[in-house]
Amino acid sequence: MTRHSRQKETILKILKETNSHPTADWIYSEVRKEIPNVSLGTVYRNLRVLKQEGKVLELDLVGNVTRYDGNHRNHDHFRCEKCGRVFDLNGAVDAGALEMDKKISKRTGFKVLYHRLEFRGFCKDCKSSDFSGGLSG
Ligand SMILES: [Zn+2]
Ligand SMILES: [Zn+2]
Repeated sequence: MTRHSRQKETILKILKETNSHPTADWIYSEVRKEIPNVSLGTVYRNLRVLKQEGKVLELDLVGNVTRYDGNHRNHDHFRCEKCGRVFDLNGAVDAGALEMDKKISKRTGFKVLYHRLEFRGFCKDCKSSDFSGGLSG
């Protein structure tokens, strides 16, 4: 394995082992544990390649730093407005998802490859802390 492909494989492995949708900075610090002399630029370059190869997703969620997702399949996300964590909603909303792509294709004439839904609100942890003290009864 060449040095370059080793860097790429390490990044992909790290992304696949987490479901926290990490930022490039976090990925960088993890890669450095295995390849101490790697640079942040290298990490960005490899992330770009992996994205082009369709192996990772880049999530540009509004008002947030770019996060990366090692799960490249069509899936939806929930973002907590309070702690900023991003959760996968695997299977929670996929009934009819392909139907939706077809419908949009039909109505617009566009070729829909995939779509992504982003749900917003408070996660379980933040939900409870948010309502403690506020609402009574
Ligand atoms: Zn939260
Ligand atoms: Zn995801």
